[in-house]
Amino acid sequence: MESQLLVSLTEKYGSPLYVYNAEKMESQYNRITAAFSSVKNLKLNYAVKANSNISILKFFKKLGSGIDTVSIQEVRLGLEAGFAPENIIFTPNGVSLKEIEQAAKLGVQINIDNLSILEQFGHLYPNTPVCVRINPHIMAGGHSKISVGHIDSKFGISIHQLPHIKRVIENTGMHINGVHMHTGSDILDIDVFLAATEILFNTATAFENLDFIDFGSGFKVPYKEGDISTNIEELGEKLSKRFNSFCKSYGKNLTLMFEPGKFLVSESGFFLAHVNVVKHTTSTVFASIDSGFNHLIRPMFYDAYHHIHNISNPGGRERYYSVVGYICETDTFATNRRISEITEGDVLCFNNAGAYCFSMASNYNSRFRPAEVLYYKGQDYLIRKEETFEDLIKNQVIVDLAQ
Ligand SMILES: *Cc1c(COP(=O)(O)O)cnc(C)c1O
Repeated sequence: MESQLLVSLTEKYGSPLYVYNAEKMESQYNRITAAFSSVKNLKLNYAVKANSNISILKFFKKLGSGIDTVSIQEVRLGLEAGFAPENIIFTPNGVSLKEIEQAAKLGVQINIDNLSILEQFGHLYPNTPVCVRINPHIMAGGHSKISVGHIDSKFGISIHQLPHIKRVIENTGMHINGVHMHTGSDILDIDVFLAATEILFNTATAFENLDFIDFGSGFKVPYKEGDISTNIEELGEKLSKRFNSFCKSYGKNLTLMFEPGKFLVSESGFFLAHVNVVKHTTSTVFASIDSGFNHLIRPMFYDAYHHIHNISNPGGRERYYSVVGYICETDTFATNRRISEITEGDVLCFNNAGAYCFSMASNYNSRFRPAEVLYYKGQDYLIRKEETFEDLIKNQVIVDLAQ
């Protein structure tokens, strides 16, 4: 999006501000469907946790997407957005049987990731079809906090426990209608990912009556120029071929599912914040913005890189800055970053702010979470208001022990 337009949105809606370009979400969605166009039944389930704003969920619904949810609250957000229960898959980790029962009562597709719950659920609801989440024990890449398919990961049922899964099915008479894996968040090497899919295909042959195979997600997006990202087109070509031949040998046209979050929304998002103070120290120049890890925690949490530019002075002379927040704790967004010369009051723009940014925001330091704006075909729409002081205190039960 153009610098001038983004600056004007901060003038209209205030700062800090999240802006999402829905056209980018649409083009990313279309990239996947095009890459897998030779697969007869393809289903994308947008991973709600990346960005759970209801207006964004509605936009994905319009594109034909389903959703992937990890909590009963996300299921409810999806229903609120108008998704039919059959277009919602519930893929929680470590939740109680009670929460899974609630989701099953709402009619959504259940995906179970441990043997204990599988057995209990199968005894109680043998007629409710269930998907099983397999851990293929593959290191798909990415930061250790987002790599979830390896041997020591808490996610999924180990591929080595397949005989135990089959025993549970025999004993309960339950129907497994899907197999699933999600190996982590940054697929760098397509061949490693394809090796994991072979494990899933192999697992699939153990179940007689599947409807779908869900390959999860983990598509990497670029964060800066020259950055590697998952080559969706190449993956589409290779995996489609393999999937179609698998369906032939399985004797049924299964549905190929993915549940991308980051790939669909990361690049659509811009986080905009004003520079409050420019501080020269003996070793660096700090630019302090009117935000912090309460609004965007990825740099501090995952060492994530967000490209930052000064949209009030695009094309200005570049200098080196450390961009920091206003939280009373070290909250560094970037160190030693080349940015066009910053004056107090300028608006900085953070790229890749569509995924895991607002959805991870908090009220730390008793700050308000910011407003969100959706932009589509030349129009801007406010899709969340900035919080107010009333929001901060509305759940506090005030007890005055001095009385
Ligand atoms: C987080 C998550 C996703 C989305 O991952 P991305 O890397 O954002 O695409 C998909 N499936 C499950 C089960 C998840 O937990």
